[in-house]
Amino acid sequence: MRVPIVFGNWKMNLDRTAIAALAKEIVTGLHHDCTVVDVGICPPFPYLERTAAILEGSNVYLGAQNGHWAESGAYTGEVSMSMLVDAGCRFVIIGHSERRQYFGETDEIVSRKINSALNAGLRVILCVGETEEQRDQGITKKIIAGQLTGALAGKAESDMPDMVIAYEPIWAIGTGRTATTDQAQEVHAFIREWLSKEFGTTTAESVRIQYGGSVKPNNMAALISMPDIDGALVGGASLKSDSFLEIVSHAADGK
Ligand code: PEP
Repeated sequence: MRVPIVFGNWKMNLDRTAIAALAKEIVTGLHHDCTVVDVGICPPFPYLERTAAILEGSNVYLGAQNGHWAESGAYTGEVSMSMLVDAGCRFVIIGHSERRQYFGETDEIVSRKINSALNAGLRVILCVGETEEQRDQGITKKIIAGQLTGALAGKAESDMPDMVIAYEPIWAIGTGRTATTDQAQEVHAFIREWLSKEFGTTTAESVRIQYGGSVKPNNMAALISMPDIDGALVGGASLKSDSFLEIVSHAADGK
């Protein structure tokens, strides 16, 4: 039985005051423990440490939105995975489509970042997803398989318990267009099948696969009812505590 997992990706939004207020509201409003749902938030870098202090003793994990593959050195503007651990992070998002699109992250970079994150003791949310054009061309599964191979081929089976996969169709991110439950389930089942071929059925059955792309309180119940959807990576709707907590409740109640 996979425990559902819901993370909020706050991207480059809010400020010091708003971040502290939102983190506090989520801590006080969360009434589920981690046996029924894993919950986390990913604020921008400058606010990680302060948010860690707010989350201390709660059931809410702290995650980062990115990290660098090198341990240290002359990488101006970058933040290493061990620095994220120092700041209190337990998770890191790697390979988000916005990183791939705007910052040129390739599958090779994604793979190196995963190695570095796992070595530092972080758990990884690996994002994969196709563009609208690729879906229209009927090559969604080919694209997803390529991203999974680029990111995960050669990883040890023992690394997989620390991995979460987020299927995020790019055409659904921030657009208000969610994949239908059938569209999402089809790709989630394909990802699990890929994991099974690469790492065996037991591992594939235990890895959690989140859906991301315009998740809202009114579509979460249907999404979580699908057999291979194990939670959500939430952008816009995670910036308000009531909508985020409602999504969390659906995830906790729906399985
Ligand atoms: C995201 O960026 O990971 C995301 C899913 O955003 P939104 O929920 O706003 O579509």
